[in-house]
Amino acid sequence: MTEIAVLGTGIMGAPMARNLLSAGFGVRVWNRTTEKALPLAGEGAAVADSPGEAASGADFLLTMLADADAVAEAASGGAIDSLAEGAVWIQTSTVGVEGNERLARLAADRGVRFVDAPVLGTREPAEQGQLVVLASGPGDAEERCAPVFNAVGAKHLWLGEAGAGSRLKLVVNNWITGLLGLLGETISLARATGVDPRSFLETIQGGPLDAPYAQSKGGMMIQGEYPPSFTSDLARKDVGLVMDAARSGGLEPAIAEAVARYFDGAIEDGHGGEDMAAVIEGIARS
Ligand code: NAP
Repeated sequence: MTEIAVLGTGIMGAPMARNLLSAGFGVRVWNRTTEKALPLAGEGAAVADSPGEAASGADFLLTMLADADAVAEAASGGAIDSLAEGAVWIQTSTVGVEGNERLARLAADRGVRFVDAPVLGTREPAEQGQLVVLASGPGDAEERCAPVFNAVGAKHLWLGEAGAGSRLKLVVNNWITGLLGLLGETISLARATGVDPRSFLETIQGGPLDAPYAQSKGGMMIQGEYPPSFTSDLARKDVGLVMDAARSGGLEPAIAEAVARYFDGAIEDGHGGEDMAAVIEGIARS
């Protein structure tokens, strides 16, 4: 049986581990807060006490942790050193350009093959195995990784050398977080000018100005309820990664800067663990 160690059983990692189990992988899981990994034990996963224990002798390491620092700590704290000979590390967390380079170097230093594979899709696509995997790395690793990608995703793109996946992921996330900031401002503008924000969503619905995202996240903003699919804390992290990448490329990302300010306000007011639609709470107070 092919063994895979999954580090991180949060909103994304837990359903990915479930789908790997369903696809017939032997799955070992580790999570900093062990209680969050325990439900997977009843579904056939081995719950490990440390990253090294999870990775011991495994054919794949799959990391799905909050950020590059968390991934580096877990991977270097025993995980990559205890993998099976020839194992592949599939790094699926969103870590940005510099973060990806740092992790790729870590893998190279320890002689482990590294695939940069951030994902598109949120809680529900993760649960349904419908993520889109933006993979890049050594060309001969694609075939090896395909069964893992097929288990967690609807499709994967193979984008070239490691780093291409993380760069595309940031471009897409800039679109997502920019749209979200504009949506929050638009709903706030409606409120500030005495327009019922629901009439804005109804007006664009089904036409060329609509976006499924506007309807789902806009509905949450209007209700003021934010059950998390993607937390404001992590969305703010991604806006920071976008700004770093933009500046390295010679751009001044004015929209991302405004969205970052809105998220900072929302997080300061206690919405960090709620869905990123709570960005509107940072607009309301600014
Ligand atoms: P989440 O539910 O908040 O889970 C975060 C995970 O990281 C948990 O396992 C958490 O452990 C762990 N963690 C955080 N800080 C840590 C540290 N210092 N050391 C060790 N572990 C640490 O987040 P998620 O939504 O699954 O996101 C995971 C990654 O996927 C992030 O990079 C995110 O940007 C990316 N992503 C998310 C989505 C989405 O829609 N949710 C979509 C695409 C990509 P504890 O349980 O102990 O806190």
